[in-house]
Amino acid sequence: MRFDSDYVLTVDGKPETTAATAGAINPATGETIAQVPVTDRATVDRAVAAARAAFPAWAATPLAERQAAVTALADRLEAHAEEFMELLTREQGKPRAGAEWEVLGSVIWLREIAKQSLPDEVIEDTDTRWVVTRYTPLGVVGGITPWNFPILLAVWKIAPALVSGNTIVVKPSPFTPLCTLKLGELAQEVLPPGVFSVLSGDDELGEWITSHPGIDKIAFTGSTETGKAVMRSAAGNLKRLTLELGGNDPAIVLPDVDPKKVAPQLFWAAFQNNAQFCNAAKRLYIHDDIYDAVRDELVAYARTVKVGDGTDPDTGLGPIQNKPQFDKVKEYFDDCKANGYTFALGGEIDESQPGWFVPVTIVDNPPEDSRLVREEPFGPILPLVRWSDEEDVIARANDTEWGLGASVWGRDLPRVERIGRRIDAGTVWLNAVHQYSPAQAFGGHKQSGIGCENSLHGLMEYTNWQTITLNKAPDAV
Ligand code: NAD
Repeated sequence: MRFDSDYVLTVDGKPETTAATAGAINPATGETIAQVPVTDRATVDRAVAAARAAFPAWAATPLAERQAAVTALADRLEAHAEEFMELLTREQGKPRAGAEWEVLGSVIWLREIAKQSLPDEVIEDTDTRWVVTRYTPLGVVGGITPWNFPILLAVWKIAPALVSGNTIVVKPSPFTPLCTLKLGELAQEVLPPGVFSVLSGDDELGEWITSHPGIDKIAFTGSTETGKAVMRSAAGNLKRLTLELGGNDPAIVLPDVDPKKVAPQLFWAAFQNNAQFCNAAKRLYIHDDIYDAVRDELVAYARTVKVGDGTDPDTGLGPIQNKPQFDKVKEYFDDCKANGYTFALGGEIDESQPGWFVPVTIVDNPPEDSRLVREEPFGPILPLVRWSDEEDVIARANDTEWGLGASVWGRDLPRVERIGRRIDAGTVWLNAVHQYSPAQAFGGHKQSGIGCENSLHGLMEYTNWQTITLNKAPDAV
């Protein structure tokens, strides 16, 4: 399999090209690096029909065989990890360390989710009655993914869908289709035709999938705004939904931290993946007593991190992934300037060079109601805000439509935990951040999503409950 060309759809187990194609752009250089297929509606219908046709046999395949197939996909991905990492850096922009985390993480996720199962739950087994709840697959899943972690977030959908006996049609973001198309091709070595298809295209393709009557569930990761459109469009046949959406995670820093120790951790909490991270710390609430010291250490640490092309081994942070996102991030720079906020670091975007590069930017105590504090910039511009009263900082942390994640940092562990428990978010880290596991439920509260991914709770979302009651009384009928 070549990784530098021949990007094809996978439909019914076979590679396909399309009449229309679109360019994939390397965000570090602005160069078009590949042409990818643009799927038309008739091809969506064929892919869904193939997935429906493949469903009964796949659902009837013994669990151990389905698990083995997903493990075999992990092995294939691992065998090609180097090519995937290189391609991921070229299409997404993330540096080597990030590409390694994502690709090798995807291998781990495939392997670990392949070990999961949902045994029947016997509710009652007496002389007269036997009652069992079992988990049956839904049918065809549509998986729709964003551009920030294109492989990992596809795997978070593919693995549980297949293990639980569904078939799946995946649509990557139009900005990062390459790795997903290659994963689809690779998967055909270990899966029957129609079980896992990949379609690339534009946003219109997403709508065709979410409204398709032949699809039973949508597993979606993306923005809250698109998530709402997905929910509306999926209503036609009451599709099941898992929605992993946006966030505005607060990080609360207590006065007893060591500024030098905590600064690098806070930096990566906020700027990992160039801050294009649903779970990035997007608002840093730093206690007044220690605010200046933490700010200064953060700025000092940030100066040591190089922003550049991800293929350069010295690069710590890559470019913004695409032009629309670059334009959106620029708005926050403009807004900060227009309102006279103080930049502790950065603030000027140099557009004279190719690539969508933005300098690491830290804004010193903008108002709580500023756009930067209230919204999700999804780029490397971070507000630091002061706090002094515990009740007040908890209220401010929770005063948002989102509830994806949060972190609390301090040495007074009971206090750290007390604050953490009161944050209304799906994931709360205490003196840690960005720790995920196939065994941990991950999902958003409020408008950060519906349902969860990972863990048996996530696996369950790919199933129907079926409760069977047997009346054993010999003279019942
Ligand atoms: P996006 O919502 O613009 O796009 C996500 C996907 O939806 C893409 O594949 C896109 O083509 C598709 N899409 C667009 N319009 C559609 C429509 N009408 N119907 C169906 N599909 C449609 O998001 P993005 O810009 O790619 O990603 C960034 C967003 O994703 C951020 O808000 C971020 O917080 C969120 N995100 C959330 C998680 C999480 O797990 N909660 C993880 C990563 C990213």
